[in-house]
Amino acid sequence: MDRIYAPWRIHWVEREEDPIDGCPFCVLPERDDDREARIVARSDHNYALLNNAPYNPGHVMIIPNRHIEDWTDLDDEVMVDHGRLKAATIEATRRDLDPEGFNTGLNLGSDAAGGSLDHLHTHVVPRWRGDTNFMPVVGETKVIVEGLERTYDHLHAAFAAGDHVVDKGDLESGDAVRLSFH
Ligand SMILES: [Zn+2]
Repeated sequence: MDRIYAPWRIHWVEREEDPIDGCPFCVLPERDDDREARIVARSDHNYALLNNAPYNPGHVMIIPNRHIEDWTDLDDEVMVDHGRLKAATIEATRRDLDPEGFNTGLNLGSDAAGGSLDHLHTHVVPRWRGDTNFMPVVGETKVIVEGLERTYDHLHAAFAAGDHVVDKGDLESGDAVRLSFH
């Protein structure tokens, strides 16, 4: 099995004590604690969300703030901002996790997505040689959550140390790093 060829399925793990009503990608950025929501950075029209059930450590999704389903429906400003945030995510991930490569892509249409989540999102998955056995190793939820919090803190610092930062955010108050590409 090689996860390079795994479909880009979304693995959204909801916490039972904090259920999401409606589209999670619309609901999460409206909450007042980015750290709890695992939003690590925000730009003018998009945000970067750490995947709750990652293929690999540092698996981030770039998501438009507005509920847009198809790439062809993005206007130029949102599309450029999406691409710039994706580039900033790759840079931050390189700065912190030093992967050997990336898989990045998006699902369009419910068949490709393998689920009901139709809010456009671009996956950015860092890859290391021999990483295909990662998920079985960390398959226990508790381990994943602890790992996610560590990864969140590291990526937050890596975004804050990069370019285009307008507000470095604050881990304690739960604020994501704010970027602007204008
Ligand atoms: Zn949505």
